[in-house]
Amino acid sequence: MSPEPSSSNKMKLAVYWGAACGGCCVSVLDTHEKLLDIVAVADPVFWPIAMDIKYKDVENMPDQSIDLTLFNGAVRNSENKHMAEVLRRKTKILVAYGSCAYMGGIPGLANFYSREDILKRVYELSESTTNPEKTRPQPEFGVPEGLLEIPEFFNEVYPLNKVVDVDYYIPGCPPQSERLIDVFNLIVSGAQLPPKGSVVGANEKTNCDECKRKKTENKVISKFYRPWEIQDDKETCFLEQGVICMGPATRSGCGVRCVEGNSPCRGCYGPPAASSDPGAKMMSAIGTMIDANDPQEIDKVIEDIVDPGGLFYRFSLPGSILGKKIT
Ligand code: SF4
Ligand code: SF4
Repeated sequence: MSPEPSSSNKMKLAVYWGAACGGCCVSVLDTHEKLLDIVAVADPVFWPIAMDIKYKDVENMPDQSIDLTLFNGAVRNSENKHMAEVLRRKTKILVAYGSCAYMGGIPGLANFYSREDILKRVYELSESTTNPEKTRPQPEFGVPEGLLEIPEFFNEVYPLNKVVDVDYYIPGCPPQSERLIDVFNLIVSGAQLPPKGSVVGANEKTNCDECKRKKTENKVISKFYRPWEIQDDKETCFLEQGVICMGPATRSGCGVRCVEGNSPCRGCYGPPAASSDPGAKMMSAIGTMIDANDPQEIDKVIEDIVDPGGLFYRFSLPGSILGKKIT
């Protein structure tokens, strides 16, 4: 897409990525022909995956001149932070779009390690690295031609709202494109918007509330399995089959897509409205299901859960109560 001059009576839309995989930008493209409806009422003025607009062009835009920015990706480095601050100034409605901007997402799992742990692993210890001088990237490096700069790598990953004020959150990894259209239409319609800080494009309750799999009251389990260790019967709740499913700790709104495809939910929509920490909610949910009273027996059952931190906080560590590993 080439940048066109904006016509004055259209909304101005920006889509930006911080520390992200690109999937959220693709979810905007996944609106397919509905993208034509979007550009009929909104001019994209900044969208790095689709348009060649430079940062300085955005920096030179008048403050508050962008009506809506979908910011996807977490804040991992000084470039992400700078653009979050610029876009906040330029934008009327700033939306944290997708799990990474909302709660830190998959990049947020790096908060189980420090900056030093990560740089040491990548530049010294990884099996494919030959670096006898133990050279590390420097934010600034002088060469005869001038000063080379790269962004500073922060000690931790931040969700967008720990860096700038956020108006709304659309969860998902990536968000379902249909829900983006719903939110976009709501904004364009001029209807009353939900209170600032709301999660939009999703529901209040949990995925379990919408899941069609069979559930048994007070079911207990004595062993946890990884999904490949059991033959899923395709109709019984995953948790009741001993497979961790984040449904009880996850906000509904995706249509329980993974479970519908016979995979357990991994929690990408974040916690439901009544909970702020998916890990704590999940631990409470499975705590009621373990078929043991003796602490040693309970420990034995829990030991079957591989990487509980990574499993329970897969999309949410930086935005959770835990936030990061405290060393
Ligand atoms: S735990 Fe998973 S499989 Fe079970 S009811 Fe909830 S969403 Fe469905
Ligand atoms: S089922 Fe869970 S992991 Fe899958 S899309 Fe929905 S919220 Fe995300």
